[in-house]
Amino acid sequence: MVSREVQAHDTVVRFGNAAVGGDKFAVIAGPCSVESEEQLLSVAEVVKKHGAVALRGGAYKPRTSPYDFQGMGVEGLKLLQKANQQLGIPTVSEVMEVSQMDAMCEYVDCLQIGARNMQNYALLKAVGESKKPVLLKRGLSATIEELLLAAEYIYDAGNPNIILCERGIRTYETATRNTLDLNAVAYLKQRTHLPVVVDPSHGTGVRELVIPLSRAAAAVGADGIIVESHLNPCEALSDGHQALTGPMFEQLMQELKPFVEAA
Ligand code: PEP
Ligand code: MN
Repeated sequence: MVSREVQAHDTVVRFGNAAVGGDKFAVIAGPCSVESEEQLLSVAEVVKKHGAVALRGGAYKPRTSPYDFQGMGVEGLKLLQKANQQLGIPTVSEVMEVSQMDAMCEYVDCLQIGARNMQNYALLKAVGESKKPVLLKRGLSATIEELLLAAEYIYDAGNPNIILCERGIRTYETATRNTLDLNAVAYLKQRTHLPVVVDPSHGTGVRELVIPLSRAAAAVGADGIIVESHLNPCEALSDGHQALTGPMFEQLMQELKPFVEAA
């Protein structure tokens, strides 16, 4: 059902006043984790001012170590809702378990399925039944075919509002956090009608590489990017080393202008 053979025209996924897919390049931005009201609202204001169409922020965090910050939970979701109410920017946040679905649907506008859960079929069915827009990330070691089949689960459960996300895969290369597979973007744009976004933050793991890979994502035909941004990355509770500072986010938007403003 996600194949271009079934539907030739591009799907546009809408939530709030955001549209992903179609002619404009959509920038979704915000911190890796929601950490406090002041942290979230201040960065939300900056990314909104410079043209982000949606705010990202994790409240349930899939951390490699159980001793690292695990997210604010439902309090974080409430802060995302508050940011939307105050600034008029719709939100994207990761759902990790079926038991979180009620709260997620109440407080956020688009449900992110993280890389580690791309093949959590119970969760895929639950977001499929919810009808909320879904941002589905490619698994760390998933093939493109497996990503498409994960999307098929959501579609088959009744939800066609799916955004695919290339966020880098595991390879033998260790200089960067992951290897951003831009082949996948060009390939997916031919194979499926679903919008495809790129996550250059997790794709590289290095702040200084985020802007160049964002440009590359736009050039290869992605429908947008999802980037991590923090006004004080040294103090971030997760992924600070890959977060764009406020001035860097402004520069990113400057460089992406021709794509963001395309008619
Ligand atoms: C995130 O978006 O912060 C995240 C954990 O992403 P991924 O699932 O791609 O690792
Ligand atoms: Mn992160």
